Amino acid sequence: MSTDHAQGFSTRAIHAGQDADPATGATVVPIYATSTYTQAAPGQHKGYEYSRSGNPTRTALETALASLEEGERGLAFASGLAATTAVFGALLRPGDEVVASADLYGGTFRLLDKVFKPWGLVAKYTDDSSAAGFEKLITPKTKLVWIETPTNPLLQVLDIAALAEVSHKHGAKLAVDNTFASPYLQRPLRLGADLVIHSTTKYLGGHSDVVGGCVVGAKDLLDPIKFYQNAAGGVPGPFDSYLVLRGLKTLSVRMDRHCANAMELAPWLKAHPAVAKVYYPGLADHPGHTVAAKQMKSFGGMISLKLHGGIPAAQLFLTRTKLFSLAESLGGVESLVCHPTTMTHASIPKDVREARGVDDGLIRLSVGIEDVADLRADLERALTTA
Ligand code: PLP
Repeated sequence: MSTDHAQGFSTRAIHAGQDADPATGATVVPIYATSTYTQAAPGQHKGYEYSRSGNPTRTALETALASLEEGERGLAFASGLAATTAVFGALLRPGDEVVASADLYGGTFRLLDKVFKPWGLVAKYTDDSSAAGFEKLITPKTKLVWIETPTNPLLQVLDIAALAEVSHKHGAKLAVDNTFASPYLQRPLRLGADLVIHSTTKYLGGHSDVVGGCVVGAKDLLDPIKFYQNAAGGVPGPFDSYLVLRGLKTLSVRMDRHCANAMELAPWLKAHPAVAKVYYPGLADHPGHTVAAKQMKSFGGMISLKLHGGIPAAQLFLTRTKLFSLAESLGGVESLVCHPTTMTHASIPKDVREARGVDDGLIRLSVGIEDVADLRADLERALTTA
């Protein structure tokens, strides 16, 4: 299957791992809806035995994901959290420590706090997302540094190259959840990270019609994660694999529009009299703007904001938008608005999340690819009545 990393990103998104089907010539990778594979004699098969261990539609997706993130190997999972679980479960042992940034997807925090803490993993969170901030928490027991950039939901930008250096200095691996940026905007492995994780539910699938996840990295590091994938079984089915693969083909054109729309809305929101604060790395006064400009191709489609009217104004706003649907998730073609404290980050205790700046007045926008004038009109209406 084609995996030529020298080809351009959009070419690889359409072709990597997606050669015409050898059996039929089908141009688009077929949905191999089979759980098992007929063998000529015991052990004599064509590379597939049982679809938890491997399925050709999933192989195509895994090959394409590896190519887009410029990694040796990709592994697809049933969800972003199944991918994260496989990383923690395969690479860490009870007594090991993970250092993560405090601003983090609520489900990742819940997984660390409610599943892996009882199992014996120690997670430490830093509010100072600089390399020095991380280094203060790293000990000889730290095996993994886990970051998102930009972060969910406060859109902080972390310097991947600097964090790779500090992690490696102390013998730890750096894992980057690249869900908010997508490989089109940011390739963490090229910047020195060891693992890239995605919720493919988001920009990679791109149409809010599938839940999935993946891990990409060097073959050796992924060997135990591949073992875990089969042993624990959190794999995507062939139809889900097909949907993500189909989404990948248009990733670059969708991302360009997500970024262009957000880049137009963010300064407009900032200048709006009802808006108190806008979190968007594309704004020149965003604290992470310089690092984002260095490590990202563009600034993404996610914007967070707070209103002058505080919590009551936010509550009104959330019920007034029409094009921006009030819904969990992000990264689909349609615009969504989300209230992190009651939705995506509800599993983080109130005092912990409020100390991190995620309060009930925070609003998160996933800017879709609709006409930006319509999106602006929708926000304007919601802001003037909020
Ligand atoms: N990482 C980030 C940054 C997310 O926003 C999410 C989900 O919202 C996840 C991981 C988890 O992915 P999934 O919902 O596919 O399990």
